[in-house]
Amino acid sequence: MKPRNRFEKAVAASNMKLSPVSPKAVEWAVRNTVSHIAFRTSGYKCTCGDCGHKSDYKGKGKYTRCPQCRHKLEVTDTLTRKRKESVYFSTIERIDGFHVQRVFRLSAITRKGIK
Ligand SMILES: [Zn+2]
Repeated sequence: MKPRNRFEKAVAASNMKLSPVSPKAVEWAVRNTVSHIAFRTSGYKCTCGDCGHKSDYKGKGKYTRCPQCRHKLEVTDTLTRKRKESVYFSTIERIDGFHVQRVFRLSAITRKGIK
């Protein structure tokens, strides 16, 4: 879109001042928006989707905690080895008097046995 009036030109000029998304925001998004699962097979062998640690979990609870990385994991009875998930998150920052909301798409691919 070509900026036509003074307001649109100011918005287009402020686009040059956008900062890259901070690693802190990405870390927050990975921790809070992506689901963290434990792959559980029929033999109650659980594999952490975050660190790949294997452990036994025979409880009936929906959630467990990985003994190695201490992340809270949702127990999922599945034989699949891969899981792909996409989520959206947004950041808000102020540039030249404008409030800029940027929306990002985060793709998370979890593969059993790989960190
Ligand atoms: Zn883990």
